[in-house]
Amino acid sequence: MTPFDKFHEECGIFGVFNHPEASNLAYLGLYALQHRGQESAGIVSSDGHMLHTHKDMGLVADIFTEDVLRSLPGSSAIGHVRYSTAGASKIENSQPFVVSGGLGNIAIAHNGNLTNAMEIRRELESYGSIFQSTMDTEVIVHLMAISREKTRLYRLIDALTRVQGAYSLLLVTEDALIAVRDPYGFRPLALGRVDSGMVVASESCAFDLIDATFEREIEPGEIVYIDQEGVTSYKPFAPVKKSPCVFEYIYFARPDSRIFGRNVYEIRKELGRQLARENPREADIVIPVPDSGMPAAIGYAQEAGIPLELGLIRNHYVGRTFIEPKQTIRHFGVKIKLNSVREILRGKRVVVIDDSIVRATTGRKIIKMIRSGGAKEIHFFISSPPTRYPCFYGIDTPTKSELIANSHSLEEIKKYITCDTLGYLSMEGLRHVVGGEENPYCYACFDGRYPVNFPIKIPEPQMPLFYNL
Ligand code: AMP
Repeated sequence: MTPFDKFHEECGIFGVFNHPEASNLAYLGLYALQHRGQESAGIVSSDGHMLHTHKDMGLVADIFTEDVLRSLPGSSAIGHVRYSTAGASKIENSQPFVVSGGLGNIAIAHNGNLTNAMEIRRELESYGSIFQSTMDTEVIVHLMAISREKTRLYRLIDALTRVQGAYSLLLVTEDALIAVRDPYGFRPLALGRVDSGMVVASESCAFDLIDATFEREIEPGEIVYIDQEGVTSYKPFAPVKKSPCVFEYIYFARPDSRIFGRNVYEIRKELGRQLARENPREADIVIPVPDSGMPAAIGYAQEAGIPLELGLIRNHYVGRTFIEPKQTIRHFGVKIKLNSVREILRGKRVVVIDDSIVRATTGRKIIKMIRSGGAKEIHFFISSPPTRYPCFYGIDTPTKSELIANSHSLEEIKKYITCDTLGYLSMEGLRHVVGGEENPYCYACFDGRYPVNFPIKIPEPQMPLFYNL
């Protein structure tokens, strides 16, 4: 069984052009992006004549040995880390996705989710296209293959005008690296420089590890084409209202990253401060649910003037699976990952801070654990509004009915979790912290307002898109 009953991370991508240690840098870049996907990882390098690929299930550090990296020669490379839902978790669906044929050799890595991929796939199959995987990303290369445009770049643009939804993409060919961010800018993507080479990554934390300098973010709707001639920017798509994913700030991205123009840690801490202003409470200590609740808990504690303590300790070496004992152990699943510090909790009025509630199954176990650790009162505050709607733009969420806030009132959730008080951040508070009206975001998981419509019935669950074909 999987240890955590909640929704999971999406994907991370990294690319490098013109560097003698391209595959090594890709490996390090993926290492820094591991939090965005732990199920499979892959690197494709280009030596100027052909592409070399290595993909496997598992963690970056386990997949890429020195021998494997030696088998990935060349001065450019792209890499991908992925999380997928059960069922589609197989090597055929790992990325980068490589094609050779009429298009030449191309590898593509995708972070996001295409909302009309199923429709396009059905159409292409009716004309005879044969798909190798169940990934939405594959439709892009099929569309490129049938495009009548002359160059790969224009074929790519042609293909992308047909797809809808969220895509931050990296493509590598024998002689170029291409980076794309969809017109809404759902997922982050940044451009950097290392020595004489260029690098592109989902998050800037990947640049820090390899001593690359952050140049700028790739803009929504921008295609950056990098080859020996230099770096060229194209903006071929009709402009739309930008909608970067606000949940990247709340939970996904690493706190040391800079995305959508701001540092993630600072935003999370400010969300915690705002949470304290909206939900003041007399208490002895503030404790974070580690690690995701940490920056918000610091913000809450500072704003409220209540000491911050580590009342829960996380085991950082938890794998994806574990064997349960035959005899029932209370809160076993969550204890694998977290344990309470009784000496800190005993007799205290405790404010507990987490970033979000999804199904509330983990939250309930954590609160019960804190209670049995001796806490006198437990006030549970969440640094985001209630998560009521599934994401169709690249975050693996449970279905609508499984999101507890979709079908339960605040009072009912509080009762289920068994805390004394439950409070969420308001939508206004969230908007205020992330930049208000001038900086629009996608808030669909909170307000159900989806920036991109669905051509066919809302796919549920979103991935794998072609599960039922
Ligand atoms: P639950 O108590 O079951 O509702 O789970 C809530 C926990 O899941 C919180 O600690 C969040 O940090 C975490 N969480 C939120 N979104 C995700 C996600 N996409 N993947 C993994 N964990 C998440």
